[in-house]
Amino acid sequence: MGIISIGNVVTYAASILKFTDAVGRMAILLNRLKGYAVFAGDYVEYMNLPQRKHEGAIPVEKRRDGKFSVEFDHVSFRYPGSETYVLKDLNLKFEIGEKMVIVGKNGSGKTTFIKLLCRLYDVTEGCIKVNGIDIRKYDYAEYCGLFAVVFQDFQVFSFPLGENVASGSDVDAKRAEEALERAGLGDRYRRLPEGLRTSIGKEFEENGVTFSGGEKQKTAIARAIYKDAPFVIMDEPTAALDPESECEVYAGFDKMVGNKTSIYISHRLASCRFCQDILVFDQGKVIQRGSHEELEHQTGLYRELWEAQAQYYA
Ligand code: ADP
Repeated sequence: MGIISIGNVVTYAASILKFTDAVGRMAILLNRLKGYAVFAGDYVEYMNLPQRKHEGAIPVEKRRDGKFSVEFDHVSFRYPGSETYVLKDLNLKFEIGEKMVIVGKNGSGKTTFIKLLCRLYDVTEGCIKVNGIDIRKYDYAEYCGLFAVVFQDFQVFSFPLGENVASGSDVDAKRAEEALERAGLGDRYRRLPEGLRTSIGKEFEENGVTFSGGEKQKTAIARAIYKDAPFVIMDEPTAALDPESECEVYAGFDKMVGNKTSIYISHRLASCRFCQDILVFDQGKVIQRGSHEELEHQTGLYRELWEAQAQYYA
């Protein structure tokens, strides 16, 4: 009848098709959204959990001289839901700038000691003081900022290397490179296809790289170096490393630690040889404390452990 031109018919027909297609896709998306909302709900619920550790409000003293003193005052601890004390009436003091090594058999409470110091758990009895103030009174986030810790069960995420080192998406490239260098990953880093942007693992990036256990551990160490906190704590820092990397990492520690307080938990007593302050843990107590020379000449667990390992250092 000549009312609509052929061109218009084609346009309208195409629009109707597009419209129905879009409505169909929207229905599918809405359906998926319902599924995602379940996950998001868990996330929101988790993020909204009240943070009991946030009760303290005192800001941590910002000291240019980096002077901090730490005191464990009659500290006892048992894990929530457990009846047995993992730490019993622990009393000790140390100052920043000191290098301390903790040794002892497995299960003697070394890691727990560190977890308490970092406030991953609160003490059951007694109190821990930093600069004379109960650590529970400090602002939690600020307090956490004092520590750079490499735990045994560190995590390296399937994100770009730079973000792994900086623990976030805001990466200071120069600082990250320096941290990697000091952690002994410099050569490996220079061989990476996209430098700091190279993804670790292939979960999200096809051309991501797979790191060995030792390389992951060095990445975790680089993360601690990057954080540049006044306390550096390493829990069995070299457990996953071969002897050569171990030497490299120890040399790096000394450079990185400078005048900071450093605490190493170590099962290799060779690392104690030059240390002035060694704590020997046994069944939740510190049973010996002193320099290598002092402890070596005392009968006790330290000498036993040293002699048991000495054959490897001969
Ligand atoms: P170490 O570092 O000297 O090997 P830990 O501090 O890891 O010792 O462990 C001390 C004791 O605490 C062990 O007997 C261990 O089984 C127990 N323990 C460690 N973590 C937990 C936990 N999350 N819940 C209950 N018990 C734990």
